[in-house]
Amino acid sequence: MADRLYIDTLTPAELAAVERRMRPGNASSAGFLGRGESLRNCIERDAATLARHGVTHYEAARWLEDMLNRIPKGVDASLRFSGYEAKGVVRRGIQGCPFGSYACGMTNVTYQFTKRSTQEGFSISGLLPHLIGTHQFFEGNTPYRLDPERLLEMRAHIPHL
Ligand SMILES: [Zn+2]
Repeated sequence: MADRLYIDTLTPAELAAVERRMRPGNASSAGFLGRGESLRNCIERDAATLARHGVTHYEAARWLEDMLNRIPKGVDASLRFSGYEAKGVVRRGIQGCPFGSYACGMTNVTYQFTKRSTQEGFSISGLLPHLIGTHQFFEGNTPYRLDPERLLEMRAHIPHL
């Protein structure tokens, strides 16, 4: 059964305020949502992807959180698993959850992943398990988005995590 969407609990004015906060240069310089992108479209599209695979947001968030907790944080340390190399980078500033006006969730860690076969890299925020689990949000069209298809592919390759 599909999760109830957090955005459905917001008034149109609250939703608009969250979207404004998520644009590049507001809550974070990179933004959580691309310019002109609809938060609702983004969340509904990703919810449909998870539903197609029979995975709930809660399950996806728990799995991601468990995986991130195993990744060392520090310049020289990294974790190698199933074709990926991952490390956690501690940032100077705290990134708060863009949905809440007060501390809903926060992080100061960015996780960097490199697929060793292709050297293709991507980064995600330590806030992402909270964003997925609480707000059903994988981030919009930004450098820190984790496409649910990619998360599910990683999960399929490392089912023991
Ligand atoms: Zn939050």
